Amino acid sequence: MPKPSDVSLALEAAFKFEERVASLERALALAEMRAVLDPEANFVCGVSAEDDCAGIGLKLGPGSVQFVGRKTCGITTICPRCGKKRLWTQRRRLEELLLENSAGGGGAILVSLSLDFPHHLSLAQRWTILRDAWGGLTASTRRRRAAAGVFRRARIVHLLHGTDGWHVHLHCVYFLLAPISDSAASTLATAEAKRWSELATQHGCGAHSDIQTYTVIGDTKEDAKRVSSYLTKAVEEIEYDRGSDSPMFTCRLDRKNKSPWQLLNDASLRGDLAAQVPLREWMQVVGSKNFKQQSIPTALNRPVTGDDHDTREVAA
Ligand SMILES: [Zn+2]
Repeated sequence: MPKPSDVSLALEAAFKFEERVASLERALALAEMRAVLDPEANFVCGVSAEDDCAGIGLKLGPGSVQFVGRKTCGITTICPRCGKKRLWTQRRRLEELLLENSAGGGGAILVSLSLDFPHHLSLAQRWTILRDAWGGLTASTRRRRAAAGVFRRARIVHLLHGTDGWHVHLHCVYFLLAPISDSAASTLATAEAKRWSELATQHGCGAHSDIQTYTVIGDTKEDAKRVSSYLTKAVEEIEYDRGSDSPMFTCRLDRKNKSPWQLLNDASLRGDLAAQVPLREWMQVVGSKNFKQQSIPTALNRPVTGDDHDTREVAA
């Protein structure tokens, strides 16, 4: 007769097994749609068995269960399985950087910048404009950022698709040598948003300065978790049907637009044929390696004193 604890461990494994099967079913649907959209992929990541394996097996342990022998593609840009792993790594790294910086007496600002694009532009054209405008902003407001104590930045591009086409926008974390007051942050925001608006006009776009946001990030563990989860919310979009309903995971533009992962969900599991069109474009663009979606420092390398500012920021 097994002891009650053994039975509960076995039950736990059985529940986990049900969860794993449901998640494998979802992965299979997403991966099969990916294979339709990306015919060059000759196996299905996470669903096809490894070459030297007889097939996918199960490894059972006390209270745990896992699939073994699954082939991995490693393409983090368009693979829901490999992309999710990378996003988790980025989420943890961002959280650690924020905590390390606040522990070292620093502050941080979450910056969100967007553009209104002419409707006829493709994803690649829009992304190029966003990248150029960001480069222009970086070059022209360097002194102001240094004066505000910005010594390093992390940058993540979010892609959304809706009736106006692709809405490619930027979220950045500015790491500061010391906490910044709301009024000092607002001074930096005013200067940068004005410049951003000028750069947008130069590129034939609009950018209302009042919708560019500069939010001071608090110094608690919850603040770090909230910001890092928000920036990597694609984790939930890959894992669940509609991502999370939490306001933490909602962009201003999320309501009427879908991320590529949400489009992939709808194409795979909701029979949305129209979603295949933007998905093909997305796969082509992110697969081209011409655009970098994330730039997150591996270490803060915080300068020791505030007098000699090290303003070598992470390049866009
Ligand atoms: Zn993969």
